[in-house]
Amino acid sequence: MHSSARNRVALVTGGSRGIGRAIALRLAHDGFDLGMCYAADTAAAEEVGKRAVELGRRVHVRKADVSDAAAVRTLVEETAAELGPICAVVTAAGITRDKPLALMPDEHWNAVLRVNLDGVYNVCRAVVSDMMERRSGAIVNVSSIAGVHGNAMQTNYAASKAGIIGFTKSLAKETGRYGVRANVVAPGFIETDMTAVLPEKIVSRVRQQIPLSRLGRPDEVANLVSFLLSEQASYVTGAVFHADGGMVL
Ligand code: NAD
Repeated sequence: MHSSARNRVALVTGGSRGIGRAIALRLAHDGFDLGMCYAADTAAAEEVGKRAVELGRRVHVRKADVSDAAAVRTLVEETAAELGPICAVVTAAGITRDKPLALMPDEHWNAVLRVNLDGVYNVCRAVVSDMMERRSGAIVNVSSIAGVHGNAMQTNYAASKAGIIGFTKSLAKETGRYGVRANVVAPGFIETDMTAVLPEKIVSRVRQQIPLSRLGRPDEVANLVSFLLSEQASYVTGAVFHADGGMVL
């Protein structure tokens, strides 16, 4: 356990499965009490909360759509009221709606931008004043290598994830002197439900482009997030970290 995390409160969006789930459990293991939201699967989210409780943590798990600013404000207020001031935030909630741009329905564009980019804005907006006032806070926004280098069929997703990078760098510049750090983690291909839908032909082609010759695991992304939220990263802000097995060099 990070001694610095004992009795401190972290908020994780998209914590019910995949990368967000691994991050939530890792932070609980690190000693954070846990606020968490998810989109749909209540049983999966409750299972994560139960495991955190078994680790001795207090939890506040709520279904809340990150694209809904009012719902996010309520989530943040309830989490702080129940657990205490939020000192660490991870925005892992995200969706894909892949299509070539020529065939992109407006709804796909809007849905991805609303959840992935507006969601990050809504969450950071809701927590930042309190962090600045307390002169302490660490934020990790989850982007993607698609946001750094682009990806065919993902103009919507790549735009949202590139937006997160510009957003986070700006936030780091704004809040550094108030003791708040903000960084980006950009995963490559990680084994989750999001990538499970990809045909094996595509996955094996991707694997060949990865120097470490395999997809990543959610816990490998969580390790990096844990470090960035810890005191060990006290001089790190505004940076973009790839967790991609060397795929993008
Ligand atoms: P996932 O689909 O397995 O899980 C997504 C999580 O986000 C779930 O907990 C879901 O409930 C939540 N969520 C979705 N929409 C939401 C909304 N509107 N409000 C609140 N919660 C919502 O995805 P994953 O693969 O674990 O991806 C997690 C993050 O990592 C995403 O931001 C994704 O873009 C990013 N990412 C994933 C990969 C990968 O290879 N899996 C690669 C790069 C980046």
